[in-house]
Amino acid sequence: MPFLGSPLFTDADGDKLHEECGVFGVVGGRDAAAIVALGLHALQHRGQEAVGITSFDGLEFYSRRGIGHVAQNFSSGPAIAELPGIMASGHVRYSTTGGSGLRNVQPLFADLATGGFAIAHNGNISNAMHLKRDLVRRGAIFQSTSDTEVIIHLVATSRYPTLLDKLVDALRMVEGAYSLICMTNHGMIACRDPLGIRPLVMGRMGDSVIFSSETVGLDIVGADFVREVEPGELIQVSLDGTVTTHRPFGAQKARPCIFEYVYFSRPDSVMEGRSVYAARKAIGVQLAMESPANADLVVPVPDSGTPAAIGYAEQSRLPFELGIIRSHYVGRTFIQPSDGARNADVKRKHNANRAIVQGKRIVLIDDSIVRGTTSLKIVQMMRDAGASEVHMRIASPPTSHSCFYGVDTPERSKLLAARMDVAAMAEFIQADSLAFVSIDGLYRAVGEANRDAACPQFCDACFSGEYPTRLTDVGERDVPAQLAFPVDKVA
Ligand code: AMP
Repeated sequence: MPFLGSPLFTDADGDKLHEECGVFGVVGGRDAAAIVALGLHALQHRGQEAVGITSFDGLEFYSRRGIGHVAQNFSSGPAIAELPGIMASGHVRYSTTGGSGLRNVQPLFADLATGGFAIAHNGNISNAMHLKRDLVRRGAIFQSTSDTEVIIHLVATSRYPTLLDKLVDALRMVEGAYSLICMTNHGMIACRDPLGIRPLVMGRMGDSVIFSSETVGLDIVGADFVREVEPGELIQVSLDGTVTTHRPFGAQKARPCIFEYVYFSRPDSVMEGRSVYAARKAIGVQLAMESPANADLVVPVPDSGTPAAIGYAEQSRLPFELGIIRSHYVGRTFIQPSDGARNADVKRKHNANRAIVQGKRIVLIDDSIVRGTTSLKIVQMMRDAGASEVHMRIASPPTSHSCFYGVDTPERSKLLAARMDVAAMAEFIQADSLAFVSIDGLYRAVGEANRDAACPQFCDACFSGEYPTRLTDVGERDVPAQLAFPVDKVA
């Protein structure tokens, strides 16, 4: 759900588009909006800038949106009381450094010829600018700068008679990643793009049907997991609870995002039958086998490096210690727009546990290096606290390419791994050694023999540069045919 700055559709901050989101919906039962607020609370890690909930009481749609966290906007009785009804959907959105404002907060809503239509989107439409330009030429007037609104205009102008057919017609024109929760006067439609790039699961709680980006959303409301919404599937739930499924796009090989396992999903979520926590721990095991280090302690960069560090410590038979303590009152480091603010944020977030690291050779484990800001600061922090050697191990291959499918990464020129090989990166972050897990090691950790034999083969474009869809808006210029650097390690 990125932003299409108008009129030239350029990104407002000159950096890459920012888009990370979580979606949640419920049909049936009382207090639908309260259930959605709870579900969104469990999905807060997917987006902390803004939140919105839309409900339907059988006659009218109601909406409430706010900037900030779910708890800041929806913890009070009066806030929820503004959202009556037996059906509701909601959305949490990640930080943007421009183009924000309430008009972009989802669910977006429009009155169409077929009735009300609310839409909440996780993902990124990779031809949204192209489609928007065309729609504007034909007279469409956009209310927001969000790519999701493109879907509304395509639905509104479709010549098919029913809302479902209009939506399918619209989605046929859309490229990229989308997990959608839509509401109409007749019920809810949840769907996933044909490659299933972003996650979406279905659950049940009594007579209510629930959709959530991750299973943690089901856990928090006490719902049972039913199944994943399949790639390319649309699941329609009428207001009386009747469920019908549609697969209009034919069979395609799924390409779910492997970065959900590395960083994005909560570790207590289960995706495609795999525990995210177990996958992260297994990445640590692979990393220890591929890149051992002569060290005294394994120290995670909390929280994102913790499960992999546990796996690394187990495999290498080194003690696991909390050599860095994290403040839980600071959001994710990416939230800060400028490099200066980001640097300060790393320090506010992490502090060295001097008593543990002093005089020790440590292996530091983090999930990824993006710009290198965090690693540089943390390595320095460990040295300042008296660590005698700092060996950095990363629980993903080098992030050498931007994501265009809904994970917030900077433009390619700002990715450390796009500018440097591993030896130069080690020097940049001032580590005694640096190693990344191999791409095959990552696939092994999620239960596959290797990348080529994997079924499904995940979307690993951020590591491989192989994008599974066309990237119309990006243009050929930015889509490299091969890896910038081999995915390997130097110890
Ligand atoms: P950097 O400091 O730019 O190298 O970013 C790396 C840090 O950001 C790591 O500690 C990751 O846990 C975290 N990270 C990686 N990818 C993302 C993302 N898409 N959004 C927010 N944080 C991220």
